[in-house]
Amino acid sequence: MSNKRVVKLREKLQAKGLTAMLVASPINRRYLTGFTGSAGYVLITRDNAYLLTDFRYMTQAPQQAVGFQVVEHGPKVMETVKDLLSSEGITSLGFEQDHVTYGVFSTYSEQLAPMSLVPVSGLVEDLRIFKDAEELSIMQRAADLADQTFSHVLTLLAAGKTEREIDLEMEMFMRKHGATSSSFDTIVASGERSALPHGVASERVIQGNEFVTFDFGALLDGYCSDLTRTVALGSPDPKLKEIYDIVLEAQLHALDHIKPGMTGREADALTRDIITRYGYGEYFGHSTGHGLGMEVHESPRLSKLSDDVLQPGMVVTVEPGIYLPGLGGVRIEDDIVITESGIHILTSSSKDYTVL
Ligand code: ZN
Ligand code: ZN
Repeated sequence: MSNKRVVKLREKLQAKGLTAMLVASPINRRYLTGFTGSAGYVLITRDNAYLLTDFRYMTQAPQQAVGFQVVEHGPKVMETVKDLLSSEGITSLGFEQDHVTYGVFSTYSEQLAPMSLVPVSGLVEDLRIFKDAEELSIMQRAADLADQTFSHVLTLLAAGKTEREIDLEMEMFMRKHGATSSSFDTIVASGERSALPHGVASERVIQGNEFVTFDFGALLDGYCSDLTRTVALGSPDPKLKEIYDIVLEAQLHALDHIKPGMTGREADALTRDIITRYGYGEYFGHSTGHGLGMEVHESPRLSKLSDDVLQPGMVVTVEPGIYLPGLGGVRIEDDIVITESGIHILTSSSKDYTVL
C-alpha cells in the first residue's frame, strides 16, 4: 500500500524536475508511511524512501512504515537529511511550503546549505483526494460510527439538558466505540442557535418547541466522518418545518444527480437552485460540500467557485442548509463516494422529519 503511494509521489516529483522531497506534515507522513507516531519526517528520493524519527519510535516505526528505511535522526534533523541526500548525490530538495513556518524554513536553509530548496504545494494532498479500497472501508466504519452516535443522541435528547451535556455524551460514545476523538468540535446548536452554521455546543439549555442541529463526526483509524441532522422538539414554529422540507428536497436532489465528470460548481448548483427557487437563497451562505478524508476539509470543493471535477474515488459531503436569524436553521449532511456510475452514500441516518 505505502509503496504505491510513494511511486505516485515520485511521478509527481519527476514531472516537476525534482529528485527528492521532504514531507513535514503529520497527516501526509501518516498517509505515505502508515506510521502513527507524533514526530518524524518523510524523505523521498528517486531510489529510496526514508522515515526519519527519534529514539522513542525506533520499535514502532519499522513495524508500521513497511517499505521505508527508518532512520533515527540526531538533535539536528536537517543534518541527518543532508547526509542522506549527499550520499545519493542530490543537490536540490522539494519541501511542503504550506506546512512550514518561516522559522522552520530558516532552519532548513541553515542546516541544509548549500542544498537548493524548492517549495512545492499539494503534491501529497492531490494523491489523498482519491481513496483506495482500504481507505474507503475505514471511512465506511467512521460513517457507521457517526450514524450509531446519532441514534444514541436521539435517545438522550431532551429539553432541560445543555448542548454541552449532549456533546460530551456524543464524544464518550464515539470514543467508547473506537474513535480516537471527534473529527472536529461537535456542533450542537439548539433554538435560535441552530441559525448559526457553526454553533459549537454551548452551555445553552435546550428548550421545548425548537430545532436542534447536530454536526459531528468520528476520527477513526486516521479518517474522518462528517454528519449533520436537524431534529425538532415539541412543536416548533411552522416556518422551520417549511425550511426543513426545502433543505431535504435540495439535499436529495443533489444525491440523485451528482455524478463523475461534474464540476464542484455544478454539484453546488443542484442544491442552491432549489433553495433559491423557494426564496431562501440568501439564507444559504455556505457551500454545498467539501472533500473528506484524513482531514475533515479537503479537496475537492462543491461550491459556486469550484472548477474541481468530481471523479471516482473522491469522498465528499453534501450539506445544504437554510438559516433564519432569530428563528433557527436546518442543515442536512451526508458523506458520499463518487463511483464510476454515480455515487455511494456512506452515511445512512434517517432524514425523515423527526419530532421528539
Ligand atoms: Zn459537518
Ligand atoms: Zn461538512
